[in-house]
Amino acid sequence: MDSLADAPPRLFDLGVGWKHSFAALGPAFFTDLVAAPLPSPYLVGVNPRLAADLRLPTDLLQSEDGVSALTGSLPIAGTRPLASVYSGHQFGVWAGQLGDGRALLLGEVESATGPQELQFKGTGRTPYSRMGDGRAVLRSSIREFLGSEAMHGLRIPTTRALSVTGSDAPVRREEIETAAVVVRVAPSFIRFGHFEHFASREQYGELRTLADYVIDRFYPECRATERFGGNAYAAFLEQVSERTAALLARWQAVGFCHGVMNTDNMSILGLTIDYGPFQFLDAFDPNHICNHSDESGRYAYNRQPNVAYWNLFCLGQALLPLIGDEQLTLAALESYKTIFPSELEACMRGKLGLPDAHEDDRVLVERVLQLLAKDRVDYTIFWRRLSHAVATGDPEPVRDQFLDREGFDAWWRDHSARLPAERGATALGMLRTNPKFVLRNHLGELAIRRAKVKDFGGVADLLKVVHAPFDEHPALEDLAGFPPDWASHIEISCSS
Ligand code: AMP
Ligand code: MG
Repeated sequence: MDSLADAPPRLFDLGVGWKHSFAALGPAFFTDLVAAPLPSPYLVGVNPRLAADLRLPTDLLQSEDGVSALTGSLPIAGTRPLASVYSGHQFGVWAGQLGDGRALLLGEVESATGPQELQFKGTGRTPYSRMGDGRAVLRSSIREFLGSEAMHGLRIPTTRALSVTGSDAPVRREEIETAAVVVRVAPSFIRFGHFEHFASREQYGELRTLADYVIDRFYPECRATERFGGNAYAAFLEQVSERTAALLARWQAVGFCHGVMNTDNMSILGLTIDYGPFQFLDAFDPNHICNHSDESGRYAYNRQPNVAYWNLFCLGQALLPLIGDEQLTLAALESYKTIFPSELEACMRGKLGLPDAHEDDRVLVERVLQLLAKDRVDYTIFWRRLSHAVATGDPEPVRDQFLDREGFDAWWRDHSARLPAERGATALGMLRTNPKFVLRNHLGELAIRRAKVKDFGGVADLLKVVHAPFDEHPALEDLAGFPPDWASHIEISCSS
């Protein structure tokens, strides 16, 4: 007998208990699979805060075996890697079956905020890879790692990232790049597309199993609803609509463009998910398109709220067989139209330092956005300077950003008249609302360039500031400056 074949495979023990509630849904929902190892993996970045939340020892993760485990090259004891199947609408067109083409769900561990699933991204081909190679490149993996942590630092619902590891294994994109793996973390990675998948195939039993799973686990209040005649599935759709509305308000307020709002990239929990060609706005341009592959501008910044509603409509169609009534389904989508504007107004009032609602607020917001757009003013720096101007009473550093000084002066007068007398406290609140640091494209790009020559200091610096984006970081002041001219020429596409 071959003694090697008899030896048990070496496993990495993270020292935490694993469960896998998704796996219990059954084989119609996924394919069991192991990660395809990458040669000589190295650590690019680890997230000590998230590791601590998950009660994972950071030093163990950073050990040689830990890095292999985070790359999928050394199996982790207690996990059950699987690729889930979903479908979706891409760029407004039904794309049929998609699925985890390069992701593997490992299972879930406990945390202070409830069970969290861990997922690899970039660990090789799956039955859902279609023409893809199952890999993710270092560049886009660093962007996902930092992008998701930046959103978390901004208190915007998002999937998280525990680590990014790399390998010198070549990966072909427009040019030859190298492979990397991100370990993502979320309560669930279920997307609108998971529901569309089973609805499109008229697999209503599986559709119900999936909906019941998500409702029982994440939306249990829907079971006791008195709305929609007690229809739990309609109540569920309404809850998802409301979470999505709140998410979109946060995106718009902070100036975040997702770039690929396909229905397979929409989280059923209202999280920001799948960081591809995303961007935080530099100059304010409502029509900004951050995805170089998006020729028609379907996912332009100012179209995002409507696209989210369109996507919810697709989810509604998928849930219709369970809800059982078209009018109820439409009614469950209605609240998006009121929640989104009211949440956005609340966000913008926070940015402006206005503690209570006033009927003229919408006009005040509209006017400042028009001024910002006209002069292509830097969005993040504007709000941060405005916060300081409220503290000092001196608008000059804000005014300097505008060509239309008269327009700004008139707006500043009206804004000042609306501010509460207690300016110090107001300004402090604004500084806790308007970040000093966002993950601008050029910052990511500079950190990526360094990482390509194995200098991961830029990634570490960015992680530090995006985790505390409202604080001053005197040693990293450069990361809060205006973007250089070349920043506007960076082209980020779907290629990742
Ligand atoms: P995305 O546009 O990144 O949301 O991806 C859409 C679909 O393509 C999903 O099913 C992904 O898993 C899959 N996909 C994207 N890139 C790759 C790749 N390099 N290899 C395999 N599947 C991929
Ligand atoms: Mg995706």
